[in-house]
Amino acid sequence: MEQYELLWQYQQVDMELDRYEREMRGNSNRKELLKHRDFLLEQQNVLKKIEADVEMMGDRMDALADEIARLNNSVNEAAANFEANRPEDIEEAKKQIAAIQKLLGTISRYESELAKMRKDSEARDRQQREVRVRAAKARAEFDRIKLIYDEEYKVAVVKLEELKKKVAKEAEGIEPALLEKYMAIKRHCAQPITRIHGDRCGGCNMQLPAADMNKIRTGAPFVECENCGRIILAK
Ligand SMILES: [Zn+2]
Repeated sequence: MEQYELLWQYQQVDMELDRYEREMRGNSNRKELLKHRDFLLEQQNVLKKIEADVEMMGDRMDALADEIARLNNSVNEAAANFEANRPEDIEEAKKQIAAIQKLLGTISRYESELAKMRKDSEARDRQQREVRVRAAKARAEFDRIKLIYDEEYKVAVVKLEELKKKVAKEAEGIEPALLEKYMAIKRHCAQPITRIHGDRCGGCNMQLPAADMNKIRTGAPFVECENCGRIILAK
């Protein structure tokens, strides 16, 4: 048999394999699994973000608590100093009291900031628990579908292997260079080899140039389409 006719037959089983692979990819349980997997990954990212926020807030809260403790010490020292060395005049007393009040004001500002952060941090904790519950549900659903899909896949893969063997068998007897050419065309055309339809390419329907039609009239078994690159069999 002509090499190009062998290649034509090869394409028939190769297309059958492609169709079956598409069918496997289109399996509804597989799609569901991918959906749940994507959702789980998304939840993991959300958790990471929350954890990073909580860590940053924790650092900030520690720093605020340290600062409040330091300011309280300063207030105590100032108060002790006021007691131990009574100011000599009323102006000096007012000045020292104002300094202490300023410290107390800062402490109170920091304390309300700290309280607000604690609340935010608690809200993040709640959010984290909610995300974990959602993710656990998705995980359970993923596991449930995975069991079903694994069984389906086991069956499907047997047929897939059979088809692959069939394709390999059809390849026997075809020159490797020709097969390589087929593969190269297949990278941009789903069906690399076609037949002539009147004076048109059976793949892209482009009219063949006169020179190619002449080749065919004088007995060339095939030409290559200038437009889509397919091999066009003359018969
Ligand atoms: Zn074409």
